Amino acid sequence: MSLDHVTALVCVICDKSYPPTEAGYVCPDHGNEGILDVRYDYELIGSRITPQSLAESHDTTMWRYRPLLPVAPDAPVPPLTVGWTPTYEAPRLAADLGVAHVWVKDEGRQPTASLKDRASAMALVKAAEAGAEVVTTASTGNAAAALSGLSASVGQKNVIFVPETAPEAKVTQLLAYGSTVALVKGNYDAAFELCMEAAAEFGWYNRNTGFNPYMTEGKKTAGLEILEQLGWDPPDAIFVSVGDGSIIGGVHKAMKDALALGWIERSPRIYGVQAAGSDYMAQAFETGEDLLTKAPIDAVTVADSISADLPRDRIKAMAAVTETSGAYIRVTDDEILAALPVLARGSGVFAEPAGAAGYAGLVAAADQGLVGPSDRVVVLSTGNGLKDIASAMKAVTAVGTQPMHILPTLDSLKDAMK
Ligand SMILES: *Cc1c(COP(=O)(O)O)cnc(C)c1O
Ligand SMILES: [Zn+2]
Repeated sequence: MSLDHVTALVCVICDKSYPPTEAGYVCPDHGNEGILDVRYDYELIGSRITPQSLAESHDTTMWRYRPLLPVAPDAPVPPLTVGWTPTYEAPRLAADLGVAHVWVKDEGRQPTASLKDRASAMALVKAAEAGAEVVTTASTGNAAAALSGLSASVGQKNVIFVPETAPEAKVTQLLAYGSTVALVKGNYDAAFELCMEAAAEFGWYNRNTGFNPYMTEGKKTAGLEILEQLGWDPPDAIFVSVGDGSIIGGVHKAMKDALALGWIERSPRIYGVQAAGSDYMAQAFETGEDLLTKAPIDAVTVADSISADLPRDRIKAMAAVTETSGAYIRVTDDEILAALPVLARGSGVFAEPAGAAGYAGLVAAADQGLVGPSDRVVVLSTGNGLKDIASAMKAVTAVGTQPMHILPTLDSLKDAMK
């Protein structure tokens, strides 16, 4: 089992470095806040993988980047096809917004229908490496569905904690895949705390976001794909919706990897998009408050996947924006719901509210002049619209879209179409 390209795991708070074989989930000096960042030997990696070798690769999954991931060359990976989702150009949306190019990366195409599959696939590889009998996670729904589905693909036992208010589609996925499901009377943050306690008590492998250092590494493959699918000519801006901040941290990590390997010469600006009712990061971005002492908020938003009182991966999430000259952007629930049909009609990509939030952020950024006519922009559409039909129906009703109710006759159709 050779992980010779992984040099260390480094605490995001104190910079203390731990050998990969000895590191636990977090820095012992900083407890659950001491999230670790995986560090690599880029010279070694550069000798194993290049844009040229990638161009010749027949692997159309996230594992095409295996030499750049914290897994051994021969480690078995789950059989479901995770990653290499399409990045569609959307010229009508670009014209509407007054920017040069817009692409939408459709993560709704993943096996369990959200970007979380990238992290959960990674979790299963690392759990097998650790010889884990049971894996667990808390989730607003999608990370749970992802761990559940990926586990089913390899017969891995798993226990899942979700708030009892999670959308029905997401809970149904868990039950279909055969997970042990705990619906917690409380919000995501409460489910998270309970899952942490249970994992420690029972010795389960813990996939929790903003705790397990390898989840960001799985998610970074979305960023690497954006670069590769745009021919290593980086966009000017990437829009990412933010709850815990792990996806945006992963996208940033992809840019840092590509810069370190000399595959790109500049990083895109990364914009984090938050719901106005779940805007911890946006608040901290504006006020400059210390992320280690800023108190949790009371998050409420229609975009359940980005509802977080205390974003677990907030340190990486802030760095993603400040180190790339991006910004945090706040959008209201109405703006998110308004963006959903606009994105669907302008690109063919049907997103759940948290996915549409990324596009709503781009609309707001264009309004505020943060992006303009020369900018090439990517929106990460993080999850499928079928995940939350109730919200999608609200969104189309709000813009006055109604079906025709007709008899099964041509006359009735003609009448209705008048
Ligand atoms: C999890 C999720 C997000 C937010 O990701 P974080 O890492 O929590 O910031 C956004 N959209 C969807 C669909 C998600 O499932
Ligand atoms: Zn530390």
